[in-house]
Amino acid sequence: MVRHSSRIELSQKALTSNINFVRKKVGRNVRISSVVKANAYGHGIDPFVRMAEKAGINHFSVASAHEANEALQCKSKSSSIMIMGILYEEDIEWAVENGIEFYVFNYDRLLKVLETAKKCNKPALIHLEVETGANRTGLPMSEFTKSLSFIKKYGHYLKYIGLCSHLGGAESDSNKFKIDIQQKRFTDYIKISKSRKMNPEVLHLASSAAALAYPETRFNMVRAGVIQYGFWPGPDIYYHHLNEVNKTSDRVLKRIITWKTDIMDIRDVPRGEFVGYGTAFQAQRDMRIAVMPLGYSNGYPRAQSNRGHVLIHGKKAPITGLINMNLFMVDVSHIPEADIGDEVVLVGRQKNSVIRVSSFTESINLLNNEMLSRLPSAIPREIVK
Ligand SMILES: *Cc1c(COP(=O)(O)O)cnc(C)c1O
Repeated sequence: MVRHSSRIELSQKALTSNINFVRKKVGRNVRISSVVKANAYGHGIDPFVRMAEKAGINHFSVASAHEANEALQCKSKSSSIMIMGILYEEDIEWAVENGIEFYVFNYDRLLKVLETAKKCNKPALIHLEVETGANRTGLPMSEFTKSLSFIKKYGHYLKYIGLCSHLGGAESDSNKFKIDIQQKRFTDYIKISKSRKMNPEVLHLASSAAALAYPETRFNMVRAGVIQYGFWPGPDIYYHHLNEVNKTSDRVLKRIITWKTDIMDIRDVPRGEFVGYGTAFQAQRDMRIAVMPLGYSNGYPRAQSNRGHVLIHGKKAPITGLINMNLFMVDVSHIPEADIGDEVVLVGRQKNSVIRVSSFTESINLLNNEMLSRLPSAIPREIVK
């Protein structure tokens, strides 16, 4: 095996703890669907699905059929996969054959699904997504009632697994008025479905934020994304939690990811010299500089140029100059023991120091989700205890 320029470690203990936290919040009767879109928010879908199953998860949500196929390769037999987003017409057959659940948000789609299910002689597993106010995807009321009738007629081939919708922005208290409206509308759809004696197995509306802060949005399944990776959906939700447990801080969520590399080279840079491209960094004194074997093409944000730091021997080493495509430099003048090949922590803990994802995403106005989901899938992931 030829070695990659960085590596990611994933803590099983942290994930199990996060999942247990969500489970405790939502209660035993609410199913947790683990959202593993975007390569499990950059954690790596293959190791993450295996880890989540160990923590008791048996339902996974993805954004596309392509992602569903990745999850299919690593999940155990008893777990289900649900596609919340794009499923191209030519892939419906694949979804039906493999027992993949998927959202339907157009009436016309049902006709095509029926045709495919008949051809496969296997029922399609459908979640009807309804429009409640996010105005992304979702059946408006008129198409919903039409769809119910259609499903009722062809129930043998169209299995009505779920009724669902998506809240637009539950992580922020200032959106609460909108969330309330969406929840009320969702309840209307449920009533209509029930009045026709059509009761899907699962009703789901909440992602992490609502699942944590608004019990009335939980129904019998929540779609938990960011929270399981150990990040609060936003400061308001963290505040809700603190009020609930009557604390002023609570480090209950655990970061799963640790991102590491090692020192590629070390050099002395005399005072007055520039480091790297252009004149972005000039040595104000004689310095000792360490070279890192990765850059923005490897997922390390370029905005960290001249402002972020890494950990070497448990000490902070400030970034000097620009993040290049596949190299960047850090100051190790104060770490004389630093040597070529020594471990470098980019995200995570080393001895008594820690670099949190949030600590460096906050300073450059990058979402945790954005930073994580951009970690290239080529970086090797290893599950640790
Ligand atoms: C991404 C996504 C989620 C998960 O959101 P988090 O805020 O990360 O929990 C849930 N539902 C849908 C439809 C999504 O696209």
